[in-house]
Amino acid sequence: MPLKLTVDSDRWRKHVQAFAEATPGLVPVAKGNGYGLTLRKLAHQTEWLNELGTGVDTLAVGTYNEVWEVATRFSGSIYVLTPWRPYSPEINPEIADRVIHTISRPEDLPLLLERQPNARVILELVTSMRRHGMTPSDLWPTSAIAHERARFEGVTMHFGLDGGSLAEVRAQMDAVVGAEATTVWVSHLSANELAQLRASYGDIIFRPRVGTGLWLGDRGALTVTATVEDVHPLERGYSYGYRGRSALRAGHLVVASGGTAHGIGLEAPLGDTHLRSRALAVARGGLDAMGQSRSPYTLDGKALWFAEPPHMQESMLMLPSGARVPAVGEELEVRVRYTATSFDEIVLDG
Ligand SMILES: *Cc1c(COP(=O)(O)O)cnc(C)c1O
Repeated sequence: MPLKLTVDSDRWRKHVQAFAEATPGLVPVAKGNGYGLTLRKLAHQTEWLNELGTGVDTLAVGTYNEVWEVATRFSGSIYVLTPWRPYSPEINPEIADRVIHTISRPEDLPLLLERQPNARVILELVTSMRRHGMTPSDLWPTSAIAHERARFEGVTMHFGLDGGSLAEVRAQMDAVVGAEATTVWVSHLSANELAQLRASYGDIIFRPRVGTGLWLGDRGALTVTATVEDVHPLERGYSYGYRGRSALRAGHLVVASGGTAHGIGLEAPLGDTHLRSRALAVARGGLDAMGQSRSPYTLDGKALWFAEPPHMQESMLMLPSGARVPAVGEELEVRVRYTATSFDEIVLDG
């Protein structure tokens, strides 16, 4: 049996709806592997949110390559987060009118407008992240072109996860007002910060882009499981694995589905790689001190250790003697990073 994601659909949908209702101007983000849930599912869900009357009229995607997959399932506007470049692929003319481009360099706007006159554009201001974006002094002349020759949909700023962004938005608002933008698209601001901005700038519409909090905000609605495929008793000194390591103590070797091909990595998803915990482990004489790693697989709520680094489609885990030995076919819960995991199967429950 494969690596499986089980979604408690009722519970998941309730969270998504409540989040949308509590987040005015929400722009759902669907990119990459669809936060583990697939782009398709997120596009359908966004269509559903729009039908509920939550005002979710725009869906953001990461790249131009993701546009078509959501365009066939969501009927509103599609906002591409990766800035447009002269090498960006052409958009299918059937949906060109629904696509909103991000312009992060002044020189790109005239080039885009040559290819798609009157295109819908959002202009990106650089933030302390320094990933993409133009300076406030480049924004004004670019916005003049956007007003005249494009459909100017506003200004965007993208912030890191660490907060402190409210002051930064405020510092950029003169540029926004100077560019006569009516909408500001933002990320990673709290509800409270958004409320403060709305109170200060009454005639500007703030639109928060959210992926993680919307789709993965209720982790209890999601369960990831792998299946035990084999169990072998081990005596101390027995050899096992690709590298012919020998067992340092007796126990069991558990082979479970899920490997590097699924995005199962050596690093446990919730840290545990800090020097401090490493030093503590050495002091304890634990398995990690002997170069072994805690795996994301759990048995009866406890983390299991990798016997060796994960293989493409499976992982070998080391069970110390005395632990309950799982049966072949039993499911083990796995803690994963949803955005970096591909599941063999997604099961919708309820
Ligand atoms: C991914 C992304 C978001 C959403 O981030 P989450 O942390 O998943 O909510 C917002 N804005 C931009 C530009 C992004 O690339």
